Amino acid sequence: MAIRFYNTMSRSLEEFKPIREGKVGLYTCGPTVHDFAHIGNFRTYVFEDILRRYLEYKGFKVKHVMNITDVEDKTIRKAREGHKALHEITDPFIEAFFADLDKLNIERASVYPRATQHIEDMVKMIRKLLELGIAYKSEDGSIYYNIAKFPGYGRLAHIKVADMRSGARVAQDEYEKDTASDFALWKAWDENDGDVYWDQYEDLGKGRPGWHIECSAMSTKYLGNHFDLHTGGVDNIFPHHQNEIAQTEACTGETFVNYWMHSEHLQVEGEKMSKSKGNFYTLRSLLDKNQNSSGKAWSAMAVRYLLVSTHYRTRMDFSFKGLEVATDTLRGIVEFLRECANSKSDKLNLQMATKLTVSLERAKSDFERAMDDDLNTPVALAALFTLRREVKKLIAEYGDLGPVGGKLVVDFFAGCDKVLGLRLLESMKAKEEAEAEDALTPEEQALLDARQQARKEKDFAKADQMRAELLARGIAIMDSPKGVTWKRV
Ligand code: AMP
Ligand code: ZN
Repeated sequence: MAIRFYNTMSRSLEEFKPIREGKVGLYTCGPTVHDFAHIGNFRTYVFEDILRRYLEYKGFKVKHVMNITDVEDKTIRKAREGHKALHEITDPFIEAFFADLDKLNIERASVYPRATQHIEDMVKMIRKLLELGIAYKSEDGSIYYNIAKFPGYGRLAHIKVADMRSGARVAQDEYEKDTASDFALWKAWDENDGDVYWDQYEDLGKGRPGWHIECSAMSTKYLGNHFDLHTGGVDNIFPHHQNEIAQTEACTGETFVNYWMHSEHLQVEGEKMSKSKGNFYTLRSLLDKNQNSSGKAWSAMAVRYLLVSTHYRTRMDFSFKGLEVATDTLRGIVEFLRECANSKSDKLNLQMATKLTVSLERAKSDFERAMDDDLNTPVALAALFTLRREVKKLIAEYGDLGPVGGKLVVDFFAGCDKVLGLRLLESMKAKEEAEAEDALTPEEQALLDARQQARKEKDFAKADQMRAELLARGIAIMDSPKGVTWKRV
């Protein structure tokens, strides 16, 4: 079946048709590396990861580009406040970002271009815009984009050009819709920029690029003038993505992007999670019980589950209660898969096998139909829960799925998990290994049996000797009215 995505540009669901058959060009706006990313940012990155994984599941070859914004207003401010060079601020946060991506099982993009390494590409675009008379140098030396010169300005963000204040300018990178104005492509150096500037481009003057031109330059460099998908959080729609369109399309004369997709915000008590409001959680704070107010160490997969359990276009409130539910739900799935993997009976019941095949086929088509429908992850997860319920019924009815049946179920979940990225099989294996470690080796068991036998025969000296021998191997024995128990010490 065809995939349909909600395109912010048309405000409607559209069938996804790639420009080149079997291939997808995907640009996802990356982190501004002035601090640790918070889990609101990761909601967007996880949505993009699911998008990419599902396209791959459907057989597309995806070229995924994610930029690293390592020069803009906030990184510069932080460098100045800390009396540091820009890269001294950004390098550790870039490293932390990649570590968090790995923890959340977010697949690596094909390329992570950094803004500071693409200044030349930005300068070329700015020159072109100047040549075309769309950009102009203002009296303060900065270069602005004249939005009145771009007829489609406001289309993505759904603002009317007539409402915009003609001739007004905005120098900072982020601003609201109601202050839509000419925006900076190149910001002339001022003392707040400290030693962050480029002064080799005489026509532009000493300065640095604006945030929006960074993404126009890096996306087209790696994906061409016209590519399939461009994504971000809803706050990127305006001004960032609107400005990217204006800059790129004016330069190339081509349509920039076919599908614009945006994820809704992660909120805390109804407010957008953000650095500036201070209502944010970093991933590392959730994974460390001493760093979050719940006093618990949560697993990264519980965080990921929580993020994918709501559709990406629905606003979602973060809570520890939600994380608790996510943790339990994941544990339940892993337990269920262990049960299936351990179906050992070699009897093959044909009736059971037929019912299982029907359930598996239905689950597969329900899962794919949900994902085809604008990546509806909660409905896709519901297909897995329905399958679990049906399989449990079969186990109750027939006693066991048999190794073939068990493997079919486990393989099906593993296939879906290529899209969901919840590390279900790894968790199942890790649990099995932990339990195997919890069992006695045959030798240890023999010693324990010998001790019990000696006790029975009232040979207490021998029983004590066996106990000492077990203790020497790190196994402590406890006698209780219910019998003997042991633990590793
Ligand atoms: P930034 O590092 O601020 O540029 O943000 C990186 C990405 O995270 C962008 O795509 C934002 O739209 C997205 N983002 C920021 N805050 C949230 C949030 N509370 N929920 C979801 N996505 C967010
Ligand atoms: Zn961007």
